[in-house]
Amino acid sequence: RKADFECQVAVLGSGPGGYTAAFRAADLDQNVVLIERYDTLGGVCLNVGCIPSKALLHAARVIDEAAHSSELGIEFGPPKITLDKLRSYKNGVVAKLTGGLAGMAKQRKVTRVHGNGKFISANEIEVETADGKKIVCFEKCIIAAGSQAVKLPGLPWEDKRLMDSTDALLLEEIPQRLLVVGGGIIGLEMACVFEALGAKVTVVELLDQLMPGADVDLVKPLATRLGKRYEGIFLKTKVTKIESEKKGLKVTFEGEKAPEPQVYDRVLVAVGRSPNGGKIGAEAAGVQVSDRGFIAVDKQMRTNVAHIFAIGDLVGNPMLAHKATHEGKVAAEVCAGQKSEFVARVIPSVAYTDPEVAWVGVTESEAKKSGIAYGKGVFPYAASGRAIGINRTEGFTKLIFDEATHRIIGAGITGPNAGDLISEVALAIEMGAEAADIGLTIHPHPTLSESVGMAAEVYEGTITDLY
Ligand code: FAD
Repeated sequence: RKADFECQVAVLGSGPGGYTAAFRAADLDQNVVLIERYDTLGGVCLNVGCIPSKALLHAARVIDEAAHSSELGIEFGPPKITLDKLRSYKNGVVAKLTGGLAGMAKQRKVTRVHGNGKFISANEIEVETADGKKIVCFEKCIIAAGSQAVKLPGLPWEDKRLMDSTDALLLEEIPQRLLVVGGGIIGLEMACVFEALGAKVTVVELLDQLMPGADVDLVKPLATRLGKRYEGIFLKTKVTKIESEKKGLKVTFEGEKAPEPQVYDRVLVAVGRSPNGGKIGAEAAGVQVSDRGFIAVDKQMRTNVAHIFAIGDLVGNPMLAHKATHEGKVAAEVCAGQKSEFVARVIPSVAYTDPEVAWVGVTESEAKKSGIAYGKGVFPYAASGRAIGINRTEGFTKLIFDEATHRIIGAGITGPNAGDLISEVALAIEMGAEAADIGLTIHPHPTLSESVGMAAEVYEGTITDLY
């Protein structure tokens, strides 16, 4: 069959990985086709992930700030929430960004093909468009088909009160009682939103701490705050059954401290995401996909088929937008004949909860487990003029250094704007900075960023008395 579209580079999926790759390839004079099944560009991140969740978390932050302003001698009344307006605000934020991407695609003459795509050979993708099946013939291809929420089997998914993160972001109603299954980043961010909006929230987590993967001490200020506000937080607890009942969803738990079965108005299941590698007909192109749906790549983002690349969530963890964009750039540059490689030493992780929790590089528990000789410098926010001024002293900045070289190898920050603050440490690790480099860098006063410099000085012993 004759090709409907011919291009040098076809990109399958337009999430942060896909659109970055498509735009970079076009900027490098490649003729690009971008295939996307959603109506808008931007993938999970812009449409049903990072962006809408952060817009709603901003609303949650405003509510919380107002609620705590009485300590400053300012009284506001209880919040009156107009859900339709809040939803429009969130949708408006998403539309601004996805609209911007559409403009950028047009400007670069990237051809968009709208529909579900599947490989039919090593040089062709068949797309099911509204006008029937179209064939995109390519010289090189970048697979950026992303991931989707894990839908635990055996649950009544036909009941709209049982939600994944995409459903929860629709913000159909504020449930009186909400159960969040999964105490990871996505579950806790959505829990923060709904609790601020007035829901009574319970979180259940299979492992022994909230936000598995982060150091326990880092998560503690968040766990303490949530412990005071939420109806319940159950660790080492499993949900064994969810039944649709007229009055709500009846949930049965298992675990040492598991509660009796409870009825909730809504349940959000946020237990992870699974890669879409197995759903794109990769076998027709000869691209190997693991049983779980991941596609293995080398440092140039090349799959086992030399002219086919893969990026983003479907090449492995961490499933984060900023990893996908960097990989997208590399893949596009290699397609255009450059010798790029994915060489990032570290990829920061951030939970935009309240307080925020951010970490980068080696965590302390990893350092302990792998027997790395490490030292740490910790600066508590209780000693920060800025943190005191904004009435948020529960956080801290912890830097982890290689004891032999005093080079920074990791960091954890918990507190307001931790997600912004962690970037400095990511840069320091990439640059191979030593504690003295960070400690001798003049940070503006009074900012929370000073805590990074101070933590380095604590490690070096040039600051000892913090109070
Ligand atoms: P995706 O964004 O998953 O995009 C893949 C695209 O491919 C989709 O648009 C899909 O429709 C399309 N596609 C798939 N298969 C086909 C096909 N066969 N044909 C045509 N099109 C196809 N990450 C962060 O870094 N920061 C955050 O704050 C953050 N918050 C999040 C909040 C939530 C609620 C969720 C769910 C995720 C969040 N993430 C966050 C993760 C982030 O969204 C992902 O890591 C990122 O979107 C991955 O980008 P990607 O390019 O790999 O793929």
